[in-house]
Amino acid sequence: NAMRRKLKRQADIENDLQHGIQNNEFELFFQPIFALQDPHIVSFEALVRWHHPEAGFVPPNDFIPIAEQTGQIIDLDLHLLELAGAQLQKWRRTGMPTIRVTVNASSRHFASLEFVDFMKEIYTKYQLPNGTLCLEITESGLIENLSLATRIIEGLEPLGVKLYLDDFGTGYSALGYLHQLPIHILKIDKSFIDNLKCGESHPLVDAILTLASSLDFDVVAEGIETQEQLEVLKQTKCQYGQGFLVAKPMPAKQAYTFLTTGKLS
Ligand code: C2E
Ligand code: CA
Ligand code: CA
Repeated sequence: NAMRRKLKRQADIENDLQHGIQNNEFELFFQPIFALQDPHIVSFEALVRWHHPEAGFVPPNDFIPIAEQTGQIIDLDLHLLELAGAQLQKWRRTGMPTIRVTVNASSRHFASLEFVDFMKEIYTKYQLPNGTLCLEITESGLIENLSLATRIIEGLEPLGVKLYLDDFGTGYSALGYLHQLPIHILKIDKSFIDNLKCGESHPLVDAILTLASSLDFDVVAEGIETQEQLEVLKQTKCQYGQGFLVAKPMPAKQAYTFLTTGKLS
């Protein structure tokens, strides 16, 4: 019975997704990414929120995996990239300092060169300065077709699109591909950050930072929730952080206020 309910729910979500895109039910929230030394905001990660007409708020973990399975993630991501581009243009018109926004993109996009054209269109349509709209991707999927993925990522380079490797340390971590792909930034998964304590060693985080620095990648620590974690990270070579301690994901208006009032200590 529980199984049936679950299947029904999945089928509902599948049906509602397409309609939700047309009906504009998705909103992007923005979570600051900040420099650990000399604290200031360097970018925002865009995170989707679904305001479903009947079910109310549906969290991404309830529909992104389903959209991945059904392939609807492609349309959804393109819609969200469009929203992010529009938001960046809107912010720029208010005179807000130019900031980078990263959008999570399914690895499915890295199987077709059409994605490069789509990104070009977004940059042109919203008159985005180079490098202001960037992408977060996970390693799984990319390594399935390394040479095509590489061509796509290289095709994005003239736009200044930087690639963030999300949830680093949780996937296959087939390290061989890391220096082959034109990746620029690693995001250390929250599970590594959770364990950081003052006065204790953290060999895995150290190893990731050493690897990153030898490959010339920048690193973002994800999911910083406590002052203690922040202090530990400040003693390392990790350049950037993100987490509820500094700011939760917030609607565009609030993100704007947060950025312009410089509420970072
Ligand atoms: P993610 O890309 O790893 O995003 C980070 C998640 O961690 C976000 O959850 C964010 O709200 C949460 N987070 C950030 N700081 C903290 C913290 O200090 N503590 C805790 N406990 N959580 C923190 P969210 O927004 O629920 O998104 C979940 C996942 O859904 C994302 O994980 C991403 O994989 C996917 N997702 C979200 N938005 C999009 C999107 O627009 N497109 C695609 N394809 N996937 C998305
Ligand atoms: Ca992400
Ligand atoms: Ca992540």
